[in-house]
Amino acid sequence: MEKFSLPKIIWPTTHCVLCGENSVLEYPGLCRRCLQRMLANREREVFCQSCGAFYAAQFRVCPNCFLKTPSYRKNGIFAAFPYDEDSGALVKKLKYNNRRDLAETMAKLFFAQISLDAADYDLVTAVPMHKKRRRERGYNQAAVFGQKIAETLSLPFAEDLLRQTKETVSQTALAYRERLHNLKGAFTAGLPGDLGGRRILLVDDVITTGATMKECGAALAAAGAKKVVFVAFAAGKTQRGR
Ligand SMILES: [Zn+2]
Ligand SMILES: [Zn+2]
Repeated sequence: MEKFSLPKIIWPTTHCVLCGENSVLEYPGLCRRCLQRMLANREREVFCQSCGAFYAAQFRVCPNCFLKTPSYRKNGIFAAFPYDEDSGALVKKLKYNNRRDLAETMAKLFFAQISLDAADYDLVTAVPMHKKRRRERGYNQAAVFGQKIAETLSLPFAEDLLRQTKETVSQTALAYRERLHNLKGAFTAGLPGDLGGRRILLVDDVITTGATMKECGAALAAAGAKKVVFVAFAAGKTQRGR
């Protein structure tokens, strides 16, 4: 006799992914205490709109930008939370644990922190993944999150606008300069002129050094985009010398 087996996929639970408590209705996957902790930690950090990193609120200017002024982010960059244990756990669940359902809660949290005017954009897209890696994971977490951002703003979501054409080594072990080199020419966005005059909201789950965003932004600009604004759920904190 054949044994009855339960399907392997565990879909939305009513429990907090950070601590296991019952989650609140408005933010499935998060309990009240964890939600409040995330928001309180957010208050202690300031988001640098020049380099896209969070820094401790007691500094008057971002230490990173105090040392060097990046020019490529002139169109705008927004992240909702500093990358810490809590926001990092949400990002990892979405990315590695097939918890695509969390994208909705993360988008709600994003818009509770950041206000964007849909009239300023024509479409939303996401930082792509190399197709080999995407096949392994089955989905692109940045696109899952980006889709929810687009839905909230009632803007079209163009998932395949950008392509990662060059396979890159894992970014995490590399320093900023090495990352830039590693990513050089890794992305393309259609043919030159394809995006003539479009204003694009480019979404990623996390901004680490901004190197990926920079390369994607350059590819979109090369295809004719008029404006590219970067958004992410979380961003790294400023470290001197990064
Ligand atoms: Zn919790
Ligand atoms: Zn900065």
